[in-house]
Amino acid sequence: MRIVIAGGGVIGCSIAWHVQKAGGEAILLERGEIAGEATGASAGMLIAPIEDTGNRAFNVLRRASLEMFPSVIQEIEEASGIDVEYKVPGMIRTARSPKAARALHDAADKRPDLEWVEPRVLRELEPSLTHDIAGATYSEDDADLNAGRLANAFVVAAERAGADIRRRTMFTGLKKDGRRIDGVSANSGDIADIDAVILAAGPWTEALTMRMGAKLPSPPMRGQMIAYRSKSVRHAIWGEDGYLVPKPRGYLWVGATVEDVGFRKKTTERGLAGLQRMAADLVPRLRRASVSSSWAGLRPGSPDGMPVIGRFPGKKNVFLATGHFRNGVLLAPVTGALVADLVLNGRTDRRLSPFSPQRFAR
Ligand SMILES: Cc1cc2nc3c(=O)[nH]c(=O)nc-3n(C[C@H](O)[C@H](O)[C@H](O)COP(=O)(O)OP(=O)(O)OC[C@H]3O[C@@H](n4cnc5c(N)ncnc54)[C@H](O)[C@@H]3O)c2cc1C
Repeated sequence: MRIVIAGGGVIGCSIAWHVQKAGGEAILLERGEIAGEATGASAGMLIAPIEDTGNRAFNVLRRASLEMFPSVIQEIEEASGIDVEYKVPGMIRTARSPKAARALHDAADKRPDLEWVEPRVLRELEPSLTHDIAGATYSEDDADLNAGRLANAFVVAAERAGADIRRRTMFTGLKKDGRRIDGVSANSGDIADIDAVILAAGPWTEALTMRMGAKLPSPPMRGQMIAYRSKSVRHAIWGEDGYLVPKPRGYLWVGATVEDVGFRKKTTERGLAGLQRMAADLVPRLRRASVSSSWAGLRPGSPDGMPVIGRFPGKKNVFLATGHFRNGVLLAPVTGALVADLVLNGRTDRRLSPFSPQRFAR
């Protein structure tokens, strides 16, 4: 089966690799560079769900994806020769207010992978952390990687297995306006004889769906980040207003804002100053550190904050994979595997059902 995928972020790239691996023929169109948008801007954290969402189906999906990472990474690193910089530094979650500390304590009571940390132990674990903390937990399994490298590893692995990866090629629409389509158009020419199309164009997916007569919202949600050149932190640190992640080559990344400002992908003085303040509140010695770079990306949102994955309403062989918001890197393996299965074999895994685009169809 010939499957066209529109979008070369981590979601489209994972789908391309999974389609190719499962015996399909993937044709991926990316209008710019692979991972050139939200994926390249991402902090790349792979965090087990805890207190941040009460949506059970979402947590099931996130856990399933998390479990896939070690084997997926081994496979695509071997196949592509790209090191995705996967590491497991562990994460310290901190609470400044007694209320947040109680919530962390409750989570640690329920979860074997979260350990409540007494202040003395915390100072040994992460000496540069502020002492002004009401409570903290430690989880040794929380990991991170370089999301841009992950997306590239997926496509190079797919390409070496025979996938057709077309960089700087824009998907412009479907060829036939019926329930079943058999071709698509791109700025480089038409692609005929295809069996299915998957729209994985991040926040630009909405504009593509409007051309097909059904508006499925994927609003852009801007995230700004900064990087320090600093080795002052050993673990990833999660605070109430943001996070710090140590990265290879002596960098410390700090993120992230969440802003609903349309397609304005630029950093702002206010956003960057807020990140610096938050970082220095958690690790006071960062007050003297200089910011070495800053950037912004547009996460694909959705009206209910949940991913939008499944068959496009009213079309037999058009599918969507977007709306991954703050979890697109984490959810890339499970999205790729389940979408490939849906498209190639017509099977809707029950874990995908709650995320069907049908819930927004008008
Ligand atoms: C600051 C920040 C920090 C983040 N941190 C994390 C994190 O720690 N962990 C985590 O799991 N997630 C994180 N995320 C979220 C994650 O990055 C996104 O959910 C994920 O990258 C979305 O991937 P995507 O492939 O759907 O979209 P994108 O990466 O935006 O890719 C979509 C691609 O489609 C292409 N495209 C658009 N229109 C067309 C067209 N017509 N034809 C061809 N191509 C087209 C675009 O050029 C783009 O490359 C973060 C995001 C940001 C911004």
